[in-house]
Amino acid sequence: MSIQTTEAIVLRSTNFAESSKIVTFYSPQFGKIKGIAKGARSAKNKFGSSLEIFSHVVLVFYQKKTDIQLISQCDLKNPFLNIRNDIVKIGYASYFVELINKTTEGAQDSEQIFSLIFNALITLETANVDMEILAHFFEIKLLKMLGCIPVFDRCVNCGVKITNGKFSCRLGGILNNECWGADESASRVSLGTILTIQHLQASDFSNLSRLKLNKLSSKELKLVLESYIKYTLVKNLKSLEFLEKIT
Ligand SMILES: [Zn+2]
Repeated sequence: MSIQTTEAIVLRSTNFAESSKIVTFYSPQFGKIKGIAKGARSAKNKFGSSLEIFSHVVLVFYQKKTDIQLISQCDLKNPFLNIRNDIVKIGYASYFVELINKTTEGAQDSEQIFSLIFNALITLETANVDMEILAHFFEIKLLKMLGCIPVFDRCVNCGVKITNGKFSCRLGGILNNECWGADESASRVSLGTILTIQHLQASDFSNLSRLKLNKLSSKELKLVLESYIKYTLVKNLKSLEFLEKIT
């Protein structure tokens, strides 16, 4: 059993036994860490508010060979107060941490994934960015990091460059007119939306504030990305149901 220190984002926090909490973190070095914080709900709680969902913290834990680590200390670096004071921002932040929690295991590409979730929260906290665009950017970057980004720049069936088409979850990409028959359940996507997705793939956090979505692209992006994430990665996302109620 060795003692480890790392920065991390809190992905999930649930009550356990009489006075403890089970907390899941995401860290650049170890990826996902699940640990028990003993006494976190007692009168002498030494963890303060550091174990709240989506806090940025410095974590000290005893690394064991079991699934659950023992959390020794957790200090708050950034509570993201602007997010906590805005119900819509809470909705988006909850979606980001739930997606990371449900799609990642182990430490593979953990530096990249940590940077994605950390920068998404910082952007939500400080920048004047369209939250819908931020969410789609987050989804596209995460799909890429997880190695399951759909094909958006050519027909997934014949490889020809596309001008418009339909999106197929099953085949993982766009089908052009000639190949629509390859998946009858594919849904129509306009060229504007396809180009927006390609643009988001090539973007980084610093140029998101310049992007705008029209109504059609907003509708189609949501349909394409959400249905694909549900089809390939995770069926039930509680935070998405919550977001739908408040936006
Ligand atoms: Zn084709």
